[in-house]
Amino acid sequence: MILILLGAPGAGKGTQADFLSRKLGIPTISTGNILRAAVKNGTQIGLIAKSCMESGGLVPDDVIMEVVKERLSEPDCLKGYILDGIPRTIGQARAFESDGVDIDTALLIEISDAEIETRITGRRNCPVCNAIYHINTNPPIMPNICDKCGSDVVIRKDDELETVKNRLKVYHQQTKPVIEFYKSKSKLKIVDNQPTIEITAEAINKALGIAHK
Ligand code: AMP
Repeated sequence: MILILLGAPGAGKGTQADFLSRKLGIPTISTGNILRAAVKNGTQIGLIAKSCMESGGLVPDDVIMEVVKERLSEPDCLKGYILDGIPRTIGQARAFESDGVDIDTALLIEISDAEIETRITGRRNCPVCNAIYHINTNPPIMPNICDKCGSDVVIRKDDELETVKNRLKVYHQQTKPVIEFYKSKSKLKIVDNQPTIEITAEAINKALGIAHK
């Protein structure tokens, strides 16, 4: 099974992809995570990606397609995989198609821009152990101190309000056409964001015809 998760940055694709990955026994391929690791390790791809990511823009299609193709050629992807964060442009969707990647379903998590802004700008990240908090829904026990390792938590550069606004603009301009692309191929399923992660997961399972436990 090859599944694409679509939705604005901060829609909860990563969290839902992880649930589905465990349920279906196939890996999640998150291009955001791959790029963040590349930036951290200072690789050549990381150097190209860093400024694009910090401004909320996109890494060029040819660069990201090379990175993702390499990952998809690994043995754990043989039975299928979940794509989180790609395709983000029509060029990437077409590149998958011309490579013969047979997408089963593109699942869109729909959520308003206002909700995204509140969600992402409230997010806090531990730069040492990568733990994620939210000032309203999941704050650290001691203000601004990571529960797990005691480091100061920070706002990730790409979670700052101006960057979030730019990420949303890029989403509307570049990724919305990808939704239309899969709709025209009758592969699109849409789930509205729900009040909790669990209820959204339930709605996704129902849309995909997966038993919910
Ligand atoms: P994410 O964690 O998926 O929101 O990705 C973080 C950042 O990585 C994005 O804002 C982009 O700068 C970059 N990125 C991730 N996936 C892609 C992609 N498919 N195409 C281009 N840039 C990407």
